[in-house]
Amino acid sequence: MTEIRTTLMQIIDNLPIPCILRNEECVMVYSNKAAESMFSSDGEFTGDCEEFSPPFQPDGSPSMRKYRVLIRHILDQGQPIKLEWLYCRRDKELIPSEITLMRVELGGEPHILEFLQDLRESHQTRIAEREIRQRLQVMMDSCPVTCGIVDIHFNVLEVNNVVMSLFGILNKQTFLNRFFELSPEYQPDGQLSRRKALDKLKQAFESGRIHYEWLHQSIYGEQIPCEVTLVRVKLNNQNMAIIYIHDLREIKKSIAMMEKMESIAYSDELTGLFSRRYFVEKATPALERAKANDETFHLIMADLDHFKAVNDTYGHPIGDEVLKITAKRMTGVTRQGSIIARYGGEEFIVLLSNMTHDAALKTAQRIQKSMEESAITIKGMSLNVTVSLGLASFSDPSESLDDIIHKADVALYGAKRTGRNKVMEYENAKDLTW
Ligand code: GH3
Ligand code: MG
Ligand code: MG
Repeated sequence: MTEIRTTLMQIIDNLPIPCILRNEECVMVYSNKAAESMFSSDGEFTGDCEEFSPPFQPDGSPSMRKYRVLIRHILDQGQPIKLEWLYCRRDKELIPSEITLMRVELGGEPHILEFLQDLRESHQTRIAEREIRQRLQVMMDSCPVTCGIVDIHFNVLEVNNVVMSLFGILNKQTFLNRFFELSPEYQPDGQLSRRKALDKLKQAFESGRIHYEWLHQSIYGEQIPCEVTLVRVKLNNQNMAIIYIHDLREIKKSIAMMEKMESIAYSDELTGLFSRRYFVEKATPALERAKANDETFHLIMADLDHFKAVNDTYGHPIGDEVLKITAKRMTGVTRQGSIIARYGGEEFIVLLSNMTHDAALKTAQRIQKSMEESAITIKGMSLNVTVSLGLASFSDPSESLDDIIHKADVALYGAKRTGRNKVMEYENAKDLTW
């Protein structure tokens, strides 16, 4: 019996697991080598639970009181208990451990046998993992666009904080739970949002990365045009995708603003005709095309007669109305495809592409007649306003747009000098002596 006991003690002594035997009073009666080396570098280990535990456990309870309650419970119930316990060496190094406490009989007396598992390493690993997670979270949250992780069913598993400001939600969980409510049922191209999203995800898994435009909506239904990027990744050996959601609202606003500014630059606000800038931009390549294809290219320059007198007699606002009506009449008698622009105050320019000289002359005459033959009625007043026109065409391939405009101007000047309210061609005006 003594022999068996000695052998058992030897086995326990050499067990690689720290092991402590205590009596009912919690006093250590025996500890193996692994326990001694875990707690003390000089081999002096009393096993005193009070000495080798910090005053409080991580859950806030006083160590000794908690330990005694546990011992009492095991002695009464006889069932082994496994729990986490924080020990502390003499050199103050904390030893987070998992302990298993069990009741054993020794010499007819109940004792407590305690096995310990040193959790320092796994504890360190957990701390390191937590740190990595925190760093990743900080990186994700400082990313200027919404980003997250989605699984193969387009469930969003993780997302950064930017999502809250983008969708006007108070927490990320709302986004994770209500992700599919944050898109309208249909995308602007008529596709079902849910189906299209899954198609896009499939494409991302095939090609590795895709970008596409997507219409999201806030939980209040406000439309949020976005650009989405999906990047295929492997996480824990599973196919996942990183999603980036880029808010395009500001960009769309800027584009709309630019388009508006461009349309302002290209049209004349008062008459609705094209602007001088637009005219020059269109007429320059049109002239090159006409030269290359041996086509005709005519310009009409028109200027209202004695318009200053209209303003002086009826006032500027009435003058504005006259300009608007003139623009309408000019448009009404000019073939479609021609470009009519307001060139200056009461000056207009017309580009007639690929039209015979006779047809161009007739167009200019129609404009002149449209003004001469019917008075303009504004606020019950009848105004007779006439127009003078100059007609020019390109005759020499070396001529630029400016050259032809100048010729039309010369012709217009000729019409003014020879009585107004008429059309003059450059050919007839150029040799006039003033
Ligand atoms: P002419 O027959 O020689 O062309 O005489 P005119 O009086 O038409 O010529 P002038 O160049 O002396 O006057 C042009 C007038 O057109 C002067 C200016 O006040 C007026 N004008 C220019 N732009 C506008 C505009 O946008 N609205 C109004 N109401 N008047 C304008
Ligand atoms: Mg003028
Ligand atoms: Mg004038």
